[in-house]
Amino acid sequence: MTAAPQLARTAPAAVEAVLDRLRPLLGDRLTTSAAVCEQHGRDESYHDPMPPDAVAFAESTEEVAAIVRACADHTVPVIPFGTGTSLEGHVAALRGGICLDLSHMTAILEVRPEDMDCTVQAGVTRKQLNEHLRDTGLFFPIDPGADASLGGMAATRASGTNAVRYGTMREAVLALTVVTADGRVLKTGRRARKSAAGYDLTRLFVGSEGTLGVITEVTLRLHGIPECVLSAVCPFPGLKAAVDTVIETIQTGVPIARIEFLDANQMRGINAYSGTDYAIAPTLFLEFHGTEAFAREQVGMVEAIAAEHGATGFQWAETLEDRNRLWQARHNAYYAGLALKPGAKGFSSDVCVPISRLADCLADTAEDCAASSVVTAIVGHVGDGNFHVLFIVDPDAPEEVAAARALNDRIVARALAMEGTCTGEHGVGYGKMAFLEAEHGPEGMAVMRALKVALDPDDIMNPGKIVRV
Ligand SMILES: Cc1cc2nc3c(=O)[nH]c(=O)nc-3n(C[C@H](O)[C@H](O)[C@H](O)COP(=O)(O)OP(=O)(O)OC[C@H]3O[C@@H](n4cnc5c(N)ncnc54)[C@H](O)[C@@H]3O)c2cc1C
Repeated sequence: MTAAPQLARTAPAAVEAVLDRLRPLLGDRLTTSAAVCEQHGRDESYHDPMPPDAVAFAESTEEVAAIVRACADHTVPVIPFGTGTSLEGHVAALRGGICLDLSHMTAILEVRPEDMDCTVQAGVTRKQLNEHLRDTGLFFPIDPGADASLGGMAATRASGTNAVRYGTMREAVLALTVVTADGRVLKTGRRARKSAAGYDLTRLFVGSEGTLGVITEVTLRLHGIPECVLSAVCPFPGLKAAVDTVIETIQTGVPIARIEFLDANQMRGINAYSGTDYAIAPTLFLEFHGTEAFAREQVGMVEAIAAEHGATGFQWAETLEDRNRLWQARHNAYYAGLALKPGAKGFSSDVCVPISRLADCLADTAEDCAASSVVTAIVGHVGDGNFHVLFIVDPDAPEEVAAARALNDRIVARALAMEGTCTGEHGVGYGKMAFLEAEHGPEGMAVMRALKVALDPDDIMNPGKIVRV
């Protein structure tokens, strides 16, 4: 639905030269199969895909370095690939080249319970890590709906439902091993919990979307599994009542673990998709972590705030199985939204505003959505001021697509006017580059461009994303 930018494709002779060099190293882990290339040029979004010329499956940092060096010698693009669940055309090979798939790099290198951290290869997914940690009493909290790779999550600065309590990948990543655009191996930091040692290289690569280098290992902060976890769903008499409850909860300082907003349309989709029978109303999904006494104290505080806003119908999920069902329904919100209009495709806004502006931003957005002909569903990590409007459109109906685009533009402009951002967690890819310019202005973009040129002078790392050089 969004046409990919038309950039000149890489000369076939240059690609052939790289393939000749890599074949002896990778054997059948290097492929030009059309089906595999097609699958690696698309993400989960509505943006037009663009296949690479070949896909290389690496198994170690040394192999990644060898692949990048070969590409650098022939000025051939390298597009890192985790699990392909990003949403802004991130992995489209806009100039062709080699897709570097890290999904074979699944070693959990070290877990250090005494320091509450671990180091993993970049292809390990968040669910694989939590499965591995199960008996240690520790867990990794960051949960984008998809089972994404930890390298991809670091590269997109991902977050999810737990971010309100545990932070995003910006806080979770302690250090990275990165292969730079000229094939050198760089450690961006140590395991110390804090450091004032020069420029923050770790955070430079977190969120760089494969445009500055390839992340091959990630050192992550872990958390203790809470003694008591209480989850609930609660419908509200209106959107404002739900959002005001969120704002007061955050402003009161309740350390809530999850507080997610879903509008009535989204709830209709959830019931249809997940077979649940929740009320069709603006709803909060909530979770409390702590000791039994502390979790129950938080529940009491939030129930009192919600009651002041007319909500009393907390529906509790008591067992682990019930809690998992509740959060799986929430994580399936994207696909549930699509169920509102069979055959349709979805695309999602991702704005984030300061918490004090959330009520106005969401109310104006809901009004806009109600006035539009486009089918929409709203869902959000509202404890952080972050929400998504899912536009559910027939991709073959240009007027519907245009109306959804116009609505999205208004939502982003409103968030920026409220000192918010065009993307709270999904990132930029090629889909949000125009909004990035609006957010950072010429000065900010000039610094980003200077960084890109300094670290990747030949523009081989995922070219055509974030900044154009
Ligand atoms: C249903 C659904 C729900 C989602 N919910 C959320 C959510 O709640 N919060 C959220 O933050 N996101 C969410 N997402 C988006 C998505 O899961 C994230 O963007 C994810 O972090 C991407 O990880 P990946 O492994 O799939 O990366 P990919 O999609 O493979 O790659 C993403 C980008 O990172 C780069 N990259 C990948 N691996 C590396 C690496 N090792 N080194 C350098 N660059 C690399 C790629 O080149 C690309 O630019 C959702 C997606 C879906 C489909």
